[in-house]
Amino acid sequence: MSDQSRYLKDSRLIAEHYGEEYEHYYNAIVPPIFMNSLNVFETLDDYYDFDRRDKHKYCYGRVQNPTVRILEDKIAALEHGVGALAFASGMAAATTAVLTACRAGSHVVCIHNAYGPLKDFLTGYCREHMNITTDFVKGNTVGEFEAYVTDRTDLIVLESPSSLIFSLQDIRAVSELARAHGALVYIDNTYCTPIYQNPLDLGADIVMHTTSKYIGGHSDVIGGVLAVKDEELLKRLITNRELLGGIVGPMEAWLMIRGLRTMEVRLVQHEATAMKVAEFLEQHPKVRKVYYPGLPSHPQYELMKKQQRGNSGLLSFEIDGIAEQAAKMAESLKIFKIGVSWGGFESLVFLPHMRLDEETCTRLGGGKNIVRIHCGLEGTDALISDLESALAEI
Ligand SMILES: *Cc1c(COP(=O)(O)O)cnc(C)c1O
Repeated sequence: MSDQSRYLKDSRLIAEHYGEEYEHYYNAIVPPIFMNSLNVFETLDDYYDFDRRDKHKYCYGRVQNPTVRILEDKIAALEHGVGALAFASGMAAATTAVLTACRAGSHVVCIHNAYGPLKDFLTGYCREHMNITTDFVKGNTVGEFEAYVTDRTDLIVLESPSSLIFSLQDIRAVSELARAHGALVYIDNTYCTPIYQNPLDLGADIVMHTTSKYIGGHSDVIGGVLAVKDEELLKRLITNRELLGGIVGPMEAWLMIRGLRTMEVRLVQHEATAMKVAEFLEQHPKVRKVYYPGLPSHPQYELMKKQQRGNSGLLSFEIDGIAEQAAKMAESLKIFKIGVSWGGFESLVFLPHMRLDEETCTRLGGGKNIVRIHCGLEGTDALISDLESALAEI
């Protein structure tokens, strides 16, 4: 087997070569998509002694697959974990993590700005079927977590930066608090990707990415991953993925491996464009406020510098006007298309609060008129001129 450790120092080498064993597939530079549902064994003992962590032994496609394993090894290396698991969606990864970290009657502390469907899972299914209670905090200071975390708390759910108003949590401080109470820290790291932030190094226990965003990178795949630093926790997650059945398909895993190859160069461009766009918006007379952690005016800029190496292409802003004017502006854009999701090549615009009541908006932060944009790869000047023309319409 080739010596893989030489790739581990550099995230680009991990994306290009780590976890791949060319000699096993005729030295093809791209790994095959193993579309098999099962693998066969020489003897029954071989079958019964099969180890789910062995990279060279496979049994059944819901348990593990060689193409999926290449993706997982790369993610684990990029996140400095002992292992990673890939799922059919970000939500499959998230729900498997919650069901592994929690038990009936567990207490969870979650930030208000966590991904909406995950909050719905906690307050809906988990509450109804497992009597799991969740307290929500804004999460800008560790003191807010201290007010709710007790020895009954099993899980703290973070997303830093959050993907609408881009609030940050102090990952190291919250992780120390969690450890003192025997709780696990789960963090959605989709916004930063492993290139710009490594939460396991800061004390978090479970890192989640929806690979539907930057890791896929081309808006052609749905998937998710979890990375962890503890072998015991990894084993429990492996068991639960097998039981819940959420493994990603080999074709999707292959697309994610392909996405990873260019992720870092794409991110550098997304960030450079988003920074220019944020600066343009910040000085525009029709814009009241810009939410982007890369701007020195961001209230948590110092914390950002401490735990992140960069920011990606997603940002929000509030126009100096009501939601109807923001909607008109969004519909006047030509290059930015109206759509949810982000992380692909294309620029997108969305008004996530347009139909919420004022009270919910206040709790989440950001008014009804907040506009979220994803800065794609169409070119900085073209995107700024698109925004300039649309802002001139209101
Ligand atoms: C899209 C998204 C998810 C959910 O991922 P899916 O792959 O759609 O299930 C979770 N977290 C964040 C921050 C997201 O943007």
